[in-house]
Parts: sequence; structure tokens; C-alpha cells
Amino acid sequence: MEDCIFCKIVRNEIPSKKVYEDPDAVAFLDINPANPGHCLVVSKRHYESITDVDDADLKKMIAIVKVMAKRIKTSLNADGINVLQNNGRHAGQIVNHIHFHVIPRFPNDNVIITYQKVNVPNLDEIQKKLSSTGASSGYEWGTRI
Ligand code: 5GP
Ligand code: ZN
Repeated sequence: MEDCIFCKIVRNEIPSKKVYEDPDAVAFLDINPANPGHCLVVSKRHYESITDVDDADLKKMIAIVKVMAKRIKTSLNADGINVLQNNGRHAGQIVNHIHFHVIPRFPNDNVIITYQKVNVPNLDEIQKKLSSTGASSGYEWGTRI
């Protein structure tokens, strides 16, 4: 995509600190990291979010997330790792090109990832909506309920 900042990074039109690259995906250091080693795993093809990404590209991305998580653990001696993936403005997505954050965690670091619990009285209704048989489930191998 012409004006997309991550597409530009993929095409090397703007500089980045790449740490992984293959024909389908790339990982580079976040310019504004939560911790040292915070990186972003990005599909080379432009998709906006989790709902429109091609399944093969998504599988590739998550495999690279694992690669980076292992490297972060062994090379940076991280104690833990958060994997985050934001979709849509209200979910905190700023760059509209699908990406996974892989964030190293260390004891007593200053990273805060949190949400407040809400009371959901109508769980049955939510269950019904989310297990809807109306829309395509997407996968034949999934247990359809
Ligand atoms: P989002 O909030 O969309 O999930 O996260 C976007 C991330 O991309 C942010 O953490 C931000 O720091 C990072 N970012 C935005 N622009 C650039 C850039 O030009 N280069 C790099 N390396 N990271 C960027
Ligand atoms: Zn893009």
C-alpha cells in the first residue's frame, strides 16, 4: 500500500532495525519500545487487521512471533513475553497494517498491560451470538457449537 508506514518499512523505503526477514514476513524493533527488544512482526502483504488477513500469512506471522519469542528469551534473558495484537482504533491500533507486538518482560519492569473487569449479566446471550451457526465458522476442522 502506497502510504502505509509498515509497507514502506517492508520495501526499505524508510529505515528500520530489522531482526528477521523472509519472503512473507519481517520483524523489526519498535521505534517506541515498552522494553528493550520490543519488536513487531509484520506481514509483507498489506492487511489491515485480524479479520481480513489471509490465513496462510497469519500462520506465518504467528510462527515468526514464536521465533522472536524464543530469541528474546535466550538472547535477552527475558523472564516473560507478552504478545499483543491490536485491531481498530478503540483497541489501540495506530498503524493500520496487521502486526504482532512481541514484548520482553523483566522482573519489576514498568510495563503495564491491564483491563478492568466488567459485570456481564447476559452471558447466555453473548454465548449465543458468538457461537452463531448463521455466519460461516470459517473452519471445517473447528468444533462447531
Ligand atoms: P499499534 O498501536 O498500532 O498496535 O502499534 C504500532 C506500533 O508501531 C507502536 O508501538 C509504534 O511505536 C510503532 N511504530 C510506529 N511507527 C513506526 C516506525 O516508523 N518504525 C518503527 N520501527 N515502529 C513504528
Ligand atoms: Zn501496509
